[in-house]
Amino acid sequence: MGKPTGFMEYQRQTIKQRSAKTRVKDWQELHLPANERFLQEQGARCMECGVPYCHMGELYQGMALGCPINNLIPEWNDLVYQGQWREALKRLHLTNNFPEFTGRVCPAPCEGSCTVGLIGEPVTIKSIEAAIVDRGFAEGWIRPQLPKQRSGRSVAVVGSGPAGLACADELNKVGHQVTVYEREDRIGGLLMYGIPNMKLDKRYVQRRVDLLAAEGIQFVTNVEIGHDTATEELLGQHDAVVLCCGSTVPRDLPIPGREAKGIHFAMEYLRGNTRHLLDGELAEPPISAEKKDVVIIGGGDTGTDCVATAIRHGCRSVVQLEILPQPPQARTAANPWPQWPKVARSDYGQEEAAHLFGRDPRDYEMMSTEFMVDESGSVTGVKAVQVQWEQNKDGRYSPKPIAGTETAYDAQLVLLAMGFTGPEPQTAKSLDITWSMNGYGTSQTQVFVAGDMRRGQSLVVWAIDEGRRAAKACDAFLTGL
Ligand SMILES: Cc1cc2nc3c(=O)[nH]c(=O)nc-3n(C[C@H](O)[C@H](O)[C@H](O)COP(=O)(O)OP(=O)(O)OC[C@H]3O[C@@H](n4cnc5c(N)ncnc54)[C@H](O)[C@@H]3O)c2cc1C
Ligand code: SF4
Repeated sequence: MGKPTGFMEYQRQTIKQRSAKTRVKDWQELHLPANERFLQEQGARCMECGVPYCHMGELYQGMALGCPINNLIPEWNDLVYQGQWREALKRLHLTNNFPEFTGRVCPAPCEGSCTVGLIGEPVTIKSIEAAIVDRGFAEGWIRPQLPKQRSGRSVAVVGSGPAGLACADELNKVGHQVTVYEREDRIGGLLMYGIPNMKLDKRYVQRRVDLLAAEGIQFVTNVEIGHDTATEELLGQHDAVVLCCGSTVPRDLPIPGREAKGIHFAMEYLRGNTRHLLDGELAEPPISAEKKDVVIIGGGDTGTDCVATAIRHGCRSVVQLEILPQPPQARTAANPWPQWPKVARSDYGQEEAAHLFGRDPRDYEMMSTEFMVDESGSVTGVKAVQVQWEQNKDGRYSPKPIAGTETAYDAQLVLLAMGFTGPEPQTAKSLDITWSMNGYGTSQTQVFVAGDMRRGQSLVVWAIDEGRRAAKACDAFLTGL
């Protein structure tokens, strides 16, 4: 194990971020690189406890605990402490195809289940993960690994998000010929066109895609399966198909004024901005927040990404409306360790908004009731009312407006960031398939499904897990083993 007394000697520290004042002026990543001594000390805090929960990835009382892909966390913490970085990288890649993504964007459920967290601050697991793989690339240890033998079987993976890429990687490693079809012009799914550059630099996504291509995976972009290419054609060309099309139907807000100009889904805004940054052709992003009052409806992570993007566009003000109550400051008795702690957090967007405008942009328990619209049909504001959550006879909670709390927010740009209701139905329809949460197969034996498309809107780490498991199921089908 690491240093037996490490958790008592060293305080938890996370990798430093650039100051809010500096970083809002550009689109570069938030984090600064960490030095080796810092990382070794943080690794030394891992006490290699008898029963580590950090890597379990199990559901307990309906809540996930630990790392969903069962990363061998105590092992690589120890190896980092010992200075054995290359060995740490090998252990990390055993369970995680893309640690450079999770090490940057994962909310780190592992840290919520860390045993040191029972009595103090958990080990800085996520930052160590990112440092191991970044070092692997910097040292040239990560090179294309071609399969020793090809199986002669071919698989189409539809969708190139983390689920599709993990699935393709696993199937390619065991020798199947894999083609990934993507309707966008770039590979990566939400890694490329959802999560903003400040959290995940697109060079890292492209670097991994280039590596996978060098290992033999074929990528076909600008092709929508079920539209540009018929699904029967796909089935005719491949021995199996794995659908990893994401959960992309956004939740709408059908209140009066919804049709006004200036109201957009968060993904239209974020996607357009990333394309603008990558292409460098347009002088302005397709939707700009410059000099506008911005209201973002939805207090979650996508909303936070919109806050940070609007700030970089030079918005005049930004508010984030959340219908749910503010979470508690500390764990409640109903949310014990080692569950993921459901507590109040401030993310990078809120920190930046507080720096620029002097307040956290989130207003909690606010229900939007109407969009205000001018004569030209453009949005001018959002009317909202404070709610309180009351339990019905059947035990379910619902929001009840509080009389006299009606308020109006100025807005020339409104972004809807209220999550996603599920996958677009047409791809499944064109293949005439249905599936359940019981496994990765579908009603057609040669078709599999994984990622957000199967489990609903989730996290990158869960998508990687899904892709790996669907690959196993698909490989068993192809080889009969
Ligand atoms: C704005 C935003 C920020 C997020 N930030 C984080 C974060 O910080 N950390 C985190 O862990 N998770 C985050 N998430 C969630 C995470 O990105 C997703 O859970 C994850 O990307 C799902 O992976 P996936 O492969 O299942 O689907 P996706 O990443 O959605 O990829 C699906 C791909 O399939 C393609 N596709 C769909 N239909 C077809 C078709 N018929 N033919 C060809 N291609 C098709 C789509 O174009 C897309 O590229 C965020 C999500 C959003 C929206
Ligand atoms: S993938 Fe996420 S949960 Fe797993 S070790 Fe990394 S940060 Fe923790």
